[in-house]
Amino acid sequence: VILGRRHNVGKVVILHRDHERGEALARVLRSAGHRVTVLQRSRRSAQDIVEQTPDLLLVSLGLTEPPVGSLVRAARQGLGDDLGVLVLVGPGDPDALVEADEMIREPGEPGELDLRVASLLRAQVDRHQLQRKVQELLQLYKVSWAFSLAGGPRKLFGHLARQCAEIVKARKGLVLLFDAERRQMLGQQEAYGISPEQVADARYSVDGEARSRWNFRKNGPLLSNKAQADTRLIPEISRNLDVQQVLMVPLTRGPKIDGLLLAADRQTPFTDDDLNLLLAMAGEAAVAVENLRLHEELKRANDLLKQYDRMKSEFVAIVAHDFRKPLMAIRGFCELVLEEPSLPEETRKEFMRTVIAETDGLAILANDTLLITQIETGQFKFRWREMDLGPFLLEAMPMGLSEHSVLIDIPPQFPKIVADPDRLRQVLNNLVGNALKYSPAGGSINIRCRQRGDDHVVIEVIDHGLGIPQEQIGNLFQKFSRVRSEEHLKIPGTGLGLYISRLIVEGHGGQIWVESELGKGSTFGMALPRDAGAVAPRPSLKDTLEQQSVPGPNRAAS
Ligand code: ADP
Repeated sequence: VILGRRHNVGKVVILHRDHERGEALARVLRSAGHRVTVLQRSRRSAQDIVEQTPDLLLVSLGLTEPPVGSLVRAARQGLGDDLGVLVLVGPGDPDALVEADEMIREPGEPGELDLRVASLLRAQVDRHQLQRKVQELLQLYKVSWAFSLAGGPRKLFGHLARQCAEIVKARKGLVLLFDAERRQMLGQQEAYGISPEQVADARYSVDGEARSRWNFRKNGPLLSNKAQADTRLIPEISRNLDVQQVLMVPLTRGPKIDGLLLAADRQTPFTDDDLNLLLAMAGEAAVAVENLRLHEELKRANDLLKQYDRMKSEFVAIVAHDFRKPLMAIRGFCELVLEEPSLPEETRKEFMRTVIAETDGLAILANDTLLITQIETGQFKFRWREMDLGPFLLEAMPMGLSEHSVLIDIPPQFPKIVADPDRLRQVLNNLVGNALKYSPAGGSINIRCRQRGDDHVVIEVIDHGLGIPQEQIGNLFQKFSRVRSEEHLKIPGTGLGLYISRLIVEGHGGQIWVESELGKGSTFGMALPRDAGAVAPRPSLKDTLEQQSVPGPNRAAS
């Protein structure tokens, strides 16, 4: 007597080593309503089975030509793993390894065969329905994930967390992502049914003590219905999240595990079917997480490019302005010399000297512009050399120090340093040049060297000139920044020198600063590592762009 659900009927193919026996079984099944075909044994058997597209294959274990194991494998390859397989084991059949859903002894009761066939067909229908349902759900989820991508990580993780709870009817859901620096899977905001504080505490270590616990790479997904007592789980999950039942599946990208999906707690225990559901979702969720990563990366790159583009336009506009002024002067003087043949010789020479000075200025501006671009874009390569600061400072002093006295103060046996001499000369020329320029009344300028700790040297350039108002000190090392005061702006300058000095000193792994009081004078200082070649950062365009901001108002005033 068969109790329970209504019989399922389906398409059955029988391949028996004893054809007569196969026919007898077919009669039993046909009387139960199944559509049955009995195939003759042949070398083409696997192909014949595939052509019949059955729901269920009944095959006897004693089949040798072809061997039953490879026959089942070939049939499933052709029809999918869904094909139900019932193996008939007769007396005296050899032991063979077959991937079957069930086995049945022969000769058995006809009713038993009927029951087994019906339950296998039923299971297959259930499986199909479930698969369809999962596919439908995933399709729905995928659409909503795509929409939440633009909302950023919180929105997407919130979505994934809720849906991974929903799909297995759990009360809690969470996405954990691998953090390469901390070597931990970290809980992501937002979660579903879990407080933000608990999420912040949710972590799954990969190393240390956790090595002896569940390893997703080796052990695959995890199902635990007694999470608090389960020693496979680390307490950072079970205790911090206060969960009793846990399903966890890895989010994988190729061989890499990017994170975990967690669903936890419900009225009834989790089953393998729940685990499979969550696994199906994890495949799609991993794609969504990867898309988010790419999306965010693209957004960052785009922002950076926009910033770079804006800087470039500003830079070009300003440089065009700075080039135009001297060019107009050069053109004007040349015209005068050409068109006024009666100019006295001395005036003509004076004009030509001005033209030469303006041309030199232009060459410097062009070089500065080029150097800035190269350093900003990370293309500039410093040339590290060992150098003795005492003789170097003497030699690096600008010429023609008529109204000023310059004092170089460097302790004896000062250690050698490794730096780029040409670029360091440029910084010193600029700082000392400024000290002279912005001390129009003359006076003394001190250059002082000292050691700071074991690994740094400090060089300071001290003047007693115009000084700088406090509120403008903060901007001074930015591009084109000039002090906005009548006295300062009377003195010609581009506002690039200090910016270049900063780029060079930071390129050495050092720092540059200024202390100043208006009307009293300024001290520009820099600290350089003793071995810049070993510690200097390898600058990238991104770093440079992220550090700097482009001043606007200063420039307008100058
Ligand atoms: P430039 O001197 O060509 O304008 P810098 O970048 O070297 O460009 O200097 C930026 C601004 O900082 C100068 O325009 C000036 O206003 C101010 N400054 C620099 N050095 C001094 C100094 N020693 N004393 C007073 N002001 C200074």
